[in-house]
Amino acid sequence: MAKHTPMMQQYLQIKAQHKDAFLFFRLGDFYEMFFEDATRAAQELEITLTSRDGGDERIPMCGIPYHSAENYIKNLIEKGFKVAICEQVEDPKHTKGVVKREVVQLITPGTVMEGAMLQEEENNFLAAVTPFDNQTYVVAYNDLTTGENSVALINDGFDHVLSELYNRPVKEIVVPPDMAEDKSTALVERLGITLSTEEESDMPEEHLNLVLDLPVEKLKTGFGRLFHYIQRTQKRSMDHLMPVQVIELQQYMTLDMYSKRNLELMETLRKQGKKGSLLWVLDKTVTSMGARLLKKWLERPLLNKSMIETRYNQVEGLVEQFFERESLREALTSVYDLERLAGRVAYGNVNARDLIQLKQSLSKVPEIKTLLQSFQQPELHKLADNIDPLQEVHDFLEESISDDAPITIKEGNIIKDGFNGQLDDYRDAAKNGKQWIAELEQKERQETGIKSLKVGYNRVFGYYIEVTKANLHLLPEGRYERKQTLTNAERYITPELKEKESLILEAQEKSVDLEYELFIQVRDRVKQFIRPLQELAEQISGIDVLQGFATVSETNQYYRPTITDNRTVNIDKGRHPVVEQVMKDDSFVPNDVKMGEDNDILLITGPNMSGKSTYMRQLALTAIMAQVGCFVPCESAHLPIFDQIFTRIGAADDLVSGQSTFMVEMMEAKHALTNATENSLILLDEIGRGTSTYDGMALAQAIVEHIHEHIHAKTLFSTHYHELTELDQSLSKLKNVHVRAEEYEGRVVFLHQIQDGAADESYGIHVAQLAELPSELIQRANSLLQQFEGSSTEKAKEVEPEQDGQLSLFVEEKQSEKPQAMKSNEQKVVNKLGNLNLLEMNPIE
Ligand code: ADP
Repeated sequence: MAKHTPMMQQYLQIKAQHKDAFLFFRLGDFYEMFFEDATRAAQELEITLTSRDGGDERIPMCGIPYHSAENYIKNLIEKGFKVAICEQVEDPKHTKGVVKREVVQLITPGTVMEGAMLQEEENNFLAAVTPFDNQTYVVAYNDLTTGENSVALINDGFDHVLSELYNRPVKEIVVPPDMAEDKSTALVERLGITLSTEEESDMPEEHLNLVLDLPVEKLKTGFGRLFHYIQRTQKRSMDHLMPVQVIELQQYMTLDMYSKRNLELMETLRKQGKKGSLLWVLDKTVTSMGARLLKKWLERPLLNKSMIETRYNQVEGLVEQFFERESLREALTSVYDLERLAGRVAYGNVNARDLIQLKQSLSKVPEIKTLLQSFQQPELHKLADNIDPLQEVHDFLEESISDDAPITIKEGNIIKDGFNGQLDDYRDAAKNGKQWIAELEQKERQETGIKSLKVGYNRVFGYYIEVTKANLHLLPEGRYERKQTLTNAERYITPELKEKESLILEAQEKSVDLEYELFIQVRDRVKQFIRPLQELAEQISGIDVLQGFATVSETNQYYRPTITDNRTVNIDKGRHPVVEQVMKDDSFVPNDVKMGEDNDILLITGPNMSGKSTYMRQLALTAIMAQVGCFVPCESAHLPIFDQIFTRIGAADDLVSGQSTFMVEMMEAKHALTNATENSLILLDEIGRGTSTYDGMALAQAIVEHIHEHIHAKTLFSTHYHELTELDQSLSKLKNVHVRAEEYEGRVVFLHQIQDGAADESYGIHVAQLAELPSELIQRANSLLQQFEGSSTEKAKEVEPEQDGQLSLFVEEKQSEKPQAMKSNEQKVVNKLGNLNLLEMNPIE
């Protein structure tokens, strides 16, 4: 330390307290970074790295102009970093030595408040995970931008914590400093979320009221950590935070991490974003609040029949009246993000434009209410009845805030004339003064006879009278005071002019100050309505999601499902909501799903690429849509309420955790087998293919039997082990179905049609043919197949290769080489094929 300048010492002291953040150290017009921060920032932000003298060594350094810092900060936050903003907190003019500096805000991915860094259609959650024992965890959520707080108690292990957090728009997780390393690693790597640490502590006094109603002490503890972290980063009071809502996980369908991922609810497997996901198809919302709420609904499908049916009624009502719905949609389009606007009002970073948006949004609410009342469906009337349009807030904003107010709140022109008498007086004074000055030019010209005489204004000298040098002789003596000399003119002032000037300036200054004061008053008055505003925002978002469901249901021809109480599934001409959209050309082949009370398991066989996994996902997605309250893609559907959905569907390797495909497969299967109930839905796609044929098949069969005997969940099980189709003899609730494919001129044609019974042939080779593998290879495969079929208990590798040298395709050696050599070449091919990762390849490859 000692070798550093006092300023660098100050830097190092502050940096020591913010090791995990980039420290933006304010120096004049720049934020500077030093040492490792500088080298990393230079890399991440692609800015120039310089250095400064630091005694024996040179200190790496880089800087960012403070006025353009926002984009750089955004960039770092998006990459998951944190930024500590360190400002000069003393006026450098009035201090000797080093100016005092302090970190005034810690910007982190989970606590950003300003526009550019936020995504409109997503919440920006900060979460805290608090472990109590190996099984019990509390997950607490906060979204600073909307003020919402919620908490969930998880008492069945860490896997469920991961599943809970997975795919939610959580940007940062706060954990205890002594969190077990494997767990924090799992959070970072599996979820890809920034981790921060905070000691456990009680809820801060001023926020105690938010957790008063929490039923369990553990939940409060979970929140203490979160709130301390918020206070530490924000360093200001927060009035908009809403009482913590308990998320009763048992009221919602459980979707584990694997299912959320495999079913591509929010994003596609390859993380290419929303496009191609269920959310992408269903999102016909027109407000960003609606988009955020839709995500929440999709995250938590309902289990309560009457709640689900209420949503159906609402959607149905909206579907039935097209024109009214279109008007409603139109009206909603003009509603801004009430929720975040309310958040900004309370947080204190609202500007006049925001208030105008708030007013405009409120002005639409009475119309929305009336429109809802124009529907036949009583459930929609109920929605209307609950709406309070907050007319008072609207009128107050209408009176106070000028329609063309600027974004800045300290330069005036915000408050309307007539809102405040004092302000009107100042404005009159300024206006009159300006009027007087405008008239002065005329008057002076007449009196002096100088036609080119001008009255002007500049920042340094204020108002002046300007006369060209050629006319100076016309000026009367003693009346004017010379102020400034230009090349060919002189500028003068008069006492009268200065008097008016100071009147104007004073009036202007006073009015700007007063405007700011009035603005704060307006803001504070609106702040009194935060709760009702938040409530209104919630209602509007709900209406938006429902109209979105109605819109998508009508456009894509979805129909209202019927909820059954007897665990039967009966879907007529069901479709996969996403695949059919991607195909566009109506070529999607609808399929029935029929599973009566006496049928728990469908064993699905059929060639690769025939549509098995599409069929399986289709059922899961249909069930989720149904339990979210949306209509479903089919001609008619009877569905039970599923408590959980489990999937093991051919997904890419779980690269992150470094486990083999087979291990992941087994983990997912275990997860399903240990958690599923008879009310669950299980999808198992090609289980066992990650290992060698026989143990894979044995495992697959054992799993089917286990589900059949012990779990009784509705299960779709696809397999390429033909042998398993015989299970329908021994397992009474198992039924075979297969995907129909037909041969046409020696080639296979997929019909994508599900039919009863087992598939009778393996079409693998035809698929290979379809993929245009060399014809010699196809012939060879055909003859091998015949041999296998002749000795089905023999292991594949025991089959002798044919002696006719057909493998020449892959072999560099000449045809005349001995069979022995071919055998080893064959082995090479086998090895090579064995090393391929089929899950990562397309058919052509
Ligand atoms: P499998 O699981 O049998 O290997 P997939 O379900 O992955 O096959 O389907 C392969 C492709 O076939 C899909 O990408 C889709 O384009 C098409 N497909 C599947 N089901 C249908 C269907 N019902 N109608 C039309 N095309 C389908």
